[in-house]
Amino acid sequence: MTNKVRVRFAPSPTGGLHLGGVRTVLFNYLFAKKHGGDFILRIEDTDQTRFVPGAEEYIIECLKWCGLTPDEGTEAGGEYGPYRQSERKDIYRKFANQLVSEGKAYYAFDTPEELEEKRAEIPNFQYGHSFRHQLRNSLTLPKDEVQRLLDEGTPYVIRINMPSNETISFTDLIRGFVSFDTTLVDDKVLLKADGMPTYHLAVVVDDFLMKITHAFRGEEWLPSAPVHLMLWKYLGWEDAMPQWAHLPLILKPDGNGKLSKRDGARLGFPVYAMNWADPSGGEVTPGFREMGFLPEAFINLLAMLGWNDGTDQEIFSIAELVEKFSLERVNHSGAKFDFEKAKWFNAEWIKKVNAEALQEDVLTLLTANNIKVSDSTKLVKIIGLVKDRCTLLTDFILQAGYFFKGPVSYDLDAVKPKWNVQKEDFFTVFISELEQLEHFATEEIEGLFKKLVADKGLKIGDVMLPFRVMLVGGKFGPAVFDIASLVGKEETISRIQKALEAFR
Ligand code: GLU
Repeated sequence: MTNKVRVRFAPSPTGGLHLGGVRTVLFNYLFAKKHGGDFILRIEDTDQTRFVPGAEEYIIECLKWCGLTPDEGTEAGGEYGPYRQSERKDIYRKFANQLVSEGKAYYAFDTPEELEEKRAEIPNFQYGHSFRHQLRNSLTLPKDEVQRLLDEGTPYVIRINMPSNETISFTDLIRGFVSFDTTLVDDKVLLKADGMPTYHLAVVVDDFLMKITHAFRGEEWLPSAPVHLMLWKYLGWEDAMPQWAHLPLILKPDGNGKLSKRDGARLGFPVYAMNWADPSGGEVTPGFREMGFLPEAFINLLAMLGWNDGTDQEIFSIAELVEKFSLERVNHSGAKFDFEKAKWFNAEWIKKVNAEALQEDVLTLLTANNIKVSDSTKLVKIIGLVKDRCTLLTDFILQAGYFFKGPVSYDLDAVKPKWNVQKEDFFTVFISELEQLEHFATEEIEGLFKKLVADKGLKIGDVMLPFRVMLVGGKFGPAVFDIASLVGKEETISRIQKALEAFR
């Protein structure tokens, strides 16, 4: 019997969540769900110096927004908890001690200053097989001296004892066979002087204890793999090691290197999933959510940054992605990020979802922009009418706002040069006829408007654009008679009156 698939997302809560991080979650999630497995969220917060308040809550909210809900984790609970590494301190120490007693790790008493000196003295200094014998550790010091130092409470770290001249390898699910020469790998710290494990020890211990079967993570973690492989071996857990998949990077638009937060700021697009407010300085880094992306679109575009189903299809729901996801179709090289394409995905999703589904988001946006919406049925109708014109949710402020609030300014350049008494007279009569109109609906308004155009010997084109500008303020929006009918009789008349004054 094969084990149930168990994958994990293991972020360090140090700040905003980069879109590459969300793609890592997504690929883990898709793989797990495709195989009927579980998705675990583990918070890797053992580096106390990098602790940032609010970062964990932020990550959880990002996952919620994206609809990538963990089956187990800090919030969901589960039988393999605690899921926050800072609460598992004793577990790691036990294994670190075990490794020391078996000679697979050792105590190192060198002070930061001593190590600094070594680094200054020896170019490319590494705490490893070539220098460890010159340093102050339990491999070089006599046994009783080590005991004395420990008894006196001298600060120490525990380092892995990396073998030299061995080749260690594994088969990556994406990159295939990968091997490393252990001689080139230094003796990484496993347990720090503050008693906390480093990432290397904690990740191996937890992947084992939490029975992780597969682990997708960013390519930047590949250099750490030999340390992890060695630890799996040293702890005697080799057979239980998860299968790793190192995902290629998401690249800058020009393909030159990894897409960073700075690139986003420089090129004017978000790199984080949601707005991140740095708690120390209050600096806000923009996010896709606040920029007006739908989570469906965000997920879809991330899936396509590194995967395709082998056809031309680009729009996928999460359910379809789960069904179609396959490792074989994950790209081996980095994917360039293209913000225009990202927006295209969003526009397609705004078209695709129904108006009701957008109601809450649009209402929140309009309210935040001081536009009062009194009638939700009307709002849904309006969303349906304008959504094909919106690329970002924020476009609804302009595209839907004027249905509830008359224009505060007009595109006078579009009207004034051709404005004349005849047109003014047309609208004055139009007002009085509208007042008489019993059934104020698109067809009736249009019928009345066209008849009056004919009566006055005008051309429809002469008065259509001014009517639009009267209602919305500019040259945009859906069919003008639809707008009038939704705005309502009284408001349409009042907008015409107000605009007539402005056009004079
Ligand atoms: N804590 C690591 C991170 O911040 C996890 C890397 C891994 O998945 O092994 O990304």
